Amino acid sequence: MASEVGGLPVGSLAERVVVITGAGSGLGRAAAELFAGRGAHIVAVDLAVDSASGTIDGLLGEGHLALQVDVSLQPSVDALTAAVLARFGRIDVLVNSAGIAEGRAPTLEQDLEHWQRIIDVNLTGSYLMCQATARIMRETGGGVILNLSSIAGVIGLPRRTAYSASKGGVSMLTRVLASEWAPYGIRVNAVAPGYIHTAMTEKLMAEGRLDVDAIVRRSPTGEMGTATDVAEALAFLASDQARFITGVVLPVDGAYTAYGAPEDAFPGD
Ligand code: NAD
Repeated sequence: MASEVGGLPVGSLAERVVVITGAGSGLGRAAAELFAGRGAHIVAVDLAVDSASGTIDGLLGEGHLALQVDVSLQPSVDALTAAVLARFGRIDVLVNSAGIAEGRAPTLEQDLEHWQRIIDVNLTGSYLMCQATARIMRETGGGVILNLSSIAGVIGLPRRTAYSASKGGVSMLTRVLASEWAPYGIRVNAVAPGYIHTAMTEKLMAEGRLDVDAIVRRSPTGEMGTATDVAEALAFLASDQARFITGVVLPVDGAYTAYGAPEDAFPGD
């Protein structure tokens, strides 16, 4: 089996220093577990320090770090990069998974505060993290940045105004930065997950704001995805096997955004 490259297993992330925002839950946590299992040092970042610490406590191996950070605030992001530099001296991979969803109020009934917080966390937070991390990566010879976009950044979802705009912004941020930072050896990619079972979607379902049956009927694969589905895509994009891939927004959505026929995609039994 051709499972080794340069003495390391294909997809190995051995000794990589990987900063993951939103690591206390959902997709960020799944990425932390998968990346640590492939040999990475994880810096688990979250607004909730207990969640970040909980993620680290669950990881195999040593050499991980948990930090409380609000990615929407520049001083908080600067403190994060200073702490990582002091501990590890470099950042090899950044995964921007911190994000918030919104209620689905009609746009005509929304207020500015609601819009602003979602843009601040999802879009400005990604921008601040990319900028602060790339300043380090440029000095150390390069790295990989992975952003979390969404199907909401690709197709129009009524009433998910700020969330969709933030994710469309994250996709374009990814393309711009990939184009600008390739000369520094920095690859910048995004994944655009479809509906995935995480705390974020479980909460929306519990509140009656996500209809699982409707999602299944609209999905060619007839299912929601798992956090591991997304983490595996992130791990590939972070690996050396993806060395010539930069500036892409990879759908991880079971063909949800590819589907365009008028009838149900998955009628079921
Ligand atoms: P989640 O709610 O399970 O986890 C998000 C984490 O981000 C939480 O631990 C939260 O505390 C943290 N966070 C929130 N605001 C923060 C801030 N200001 N600073 C630092 N951390 C903060 O959500 P998830 O489902 O894992 O989603 C992760 C990312 O993937 C989000 O950007 C989300 O928009 C995106 N996404 C999720 C889905 C899905 O179906 N779950 C689909 C498409 C895209």
